[in-house]
Amino acid sequence: MENGLRLINIYKSFGDTCALCGVSFDVAQGEIVALLGPSGCGKSTTLMLIAGLEMPDQGDIIWNNESLDGIPPHQRGFGLMFQDYALFPHMNVFDNVAFGLRMARLPEAEVKRRVNEALALVGLPDFSRRDVLNLSGGEQQRVALARSLAPHPYLLMLDEPLGALDRTLRERLIWEVSDILHNLHQTALYVTHDQEEAFAISDRVVLLNAGKVEQISTPQMLYRQPASMFAARFLGMDNLVKGVCRRVNGGYEVESDLGKISLSNSVEGNIMLLLRPDAVNLDGRGSCRLDGRVVKHSFRGNTCRVTVIVNQTLLKFDFPSSQPIPQVGEELQLSFDPHEAIQVFQD
Ligand code: ATP
Repeated sequence: MENGLRLINIYKSFGDTCALCGVSFDVAQGEIVALLGPSGCGKSTTLMLIAGLEMPDQGDIIWNNESLDGIPPHQRGFGLMFQDYALFPHMNVFDNVAFGLRMARLPEAEVKRRVNEALALVGLPDFSRRDVLNLSGGEQQRVALARSLAPHPYLLMLDEPLGALDRTLRERLIWEVSDILHNLHQTALYVTHDQEEAFAISDRVVLLNAGKVEQISTPQMLYRQPASMFAARFLGMDNLVKGVCRRVNGGYEVESDLGKISLSNSVEGNIMLLLRPDAVNLDGRGSCRLDGRVVKHSFRGNTCRVTVIVNQTLLKFDFPSSQPIPQVGEELQLSFDPHEAIQVFQD
């Protein structure tokens, strides 16, 4: 196998709670993988096990084809960066970044070289002598990133590192962190419950749900083809409608509250039909039509989310704000191409 990290069928319980129930995934060398999922799904537990701060009940964690079983945390050569970046308030920026290097007893000249290199990487080359208490939240976060990069960790694990920052700063730092990690070819595991952050930073996403892996794929594929209703809902795709699917003339026909829709690919029997919120239009493109009435709309910047009632079913759609937005009470006809807009899950 490729060098990097591999988790094989990991189980971990705390009392009666199964925090991880058979989790397997890989992070290839130089790859950034996001561990994404709702609160309590097992993200932090996964990091603790990889770091060696907790032991799995079952399963194995492999680094470069060798088991980490029995290897203590300080010998793994992995770095951790947390949301509460916990800089030492009584030390200046230089000493904060140097901390781990001095603990590892590197010669002072090498410490100086690595600290300067790490501060330059995060865009704070002249900040060595600054007091950490006088830095802005974003600067503190970058110092914390420099501190975790300075020891040149084989694997860097970041646990909701931007969670405490306001939205504007978070959006800027997402791009900066992504650039820094990619330019360094840093192998990294990035934990977040925020899909935008996961999509912007990672090469691949591992979606966790209640201690199990729900889906592993690139951000684009996860968004284009959520593999389950959980994945669809987690990504904000709520237009799920019950239906029944039958084989008809080499294809399929789904009958639901939205009427009859023909599909070339599906599964037979009771199904849930997902109508993607971004794949319908108002200008007649596509072979399917739905008549509805607007009951709500909310402006979101680039897009406007419009709630439409179709045959007593409420559906939500996102339209570009640059187009005229249908008003509440307006009757409209939604058009779509079923191959693009519809996905079917077995119920
Ligand atoms: P969050 O996003 O809220 O940090 P998470 O996805 O990181 O959540 P974990 O912290 O890994 O989730 O927790 C997974 C489950 O294991 C939860 O039900 C949690 O309550 C439980 N758990 C985690 N650590 C412990 C512990 N030390 N003792 C008891 N239960 C724990």
